[in-house]
Amino acid sequence: MSRIVYVNGEYLPEDQAKVSVFDRGFLMADGVYEVTSVLDGKLIDFKGHAERLERSLRELDMASPVAMDELLEIHRELVRRNDLAEGGVYLQITRGAPADRDFAFPDPAVTPSTIVLFTQKKNLVSSPAAETGIKVISIDDLRWGRRDIKTVQLLYPSMGKMMAKKAGCDDAWMVEDGFVTEGTSNNAYIVKGGRIITRQLGSEILHGITRAAILRFAREAQMVVEERPYTIAEAQAADEAFITSATTFVQPVVEIDGATIGTGKPGPVALRLREIYLDESRKAGM
Ligand code: PMP
Repeated sequence: MSRIVYVNGEYLPEDQAKVSVFDRGFLMADGVYEVTSVLDGKLIDFKGHAERLERSLRELDMASPVAMDELLEIHRELVRRNDLAEGGVYLQITRGAPADRDFAFPDPAVTPSTIVLFTQKKNLVSSPAAETGIKVISIDDLRWGRRDIKTVQLLYPSMGKMMAKKAGCDDAWMVEDGFVTEGTSNNAYIVKGGRIITRQLGSEILHGITRAAILRFAREAQMVVEERPYTIAEAQAADEAFITSATTFVQPVVEIDGATIGTGKPGPVALRLREIYLDESRKAGM
């Protein structure tokens, strides 16, 4: 079934949805994005994603082509038109298509931003990876220095996923100056002696919307959270490890660079947080 895609104010069948070859998203990776998950036809944590999008745009001095309240309506309309019960809505905004390729930013009064949204159907709740846990490798973090901005420069994370695949694993955790930053498309956590440890916010990692929710739920459930850097060796000696992102929620990690974590099975903290996250998200979905 062909999807209905939103492009610059129009809802179009996907084969008619086009952007210019001069678009700076295509030529320069000059664009930002968000992925909001959909459960039972409802948007999860929309407000968090919209706020992070506004921040990404502001940090890059990029104009938004639509007002933020309009954005919610576009998301909802797209979910409706595609009859999406479970999956995600992908949104991308780029600095538009100037008349020619040039490193300098175009004048936003002359070159409007490009906005594209599409839906992706996916089983998020019943996920084999959540039941068995995933295996990760560690790789050097070779990304640029502003990872707090959610840009479409995803070549290195894609390479990281391919390195993991080649090693017979599911994903890669990135390491900088000896400490884990995050996963290729998720935030990374370990659990030791009941304490949940995850890297503190900064320009070295993306400020995950799921991360914020999970840490809030963990604290509300009287769990101890430590936001600090940790090494791969510390992670390998942990009782549990897990990742979070909008589309994976909480996913246990059972192996890091060939070392089994804990019992080699998804741990109780990760499973409990996944359950709480699903319950709360279902209640708060819009
Ligand atoms: N870190 C990186 C590098 C990511 O790409 C993502 C997912 N976009 C995350 C963390 C998780 O963020 P969120 O919980 O907002 O999906």
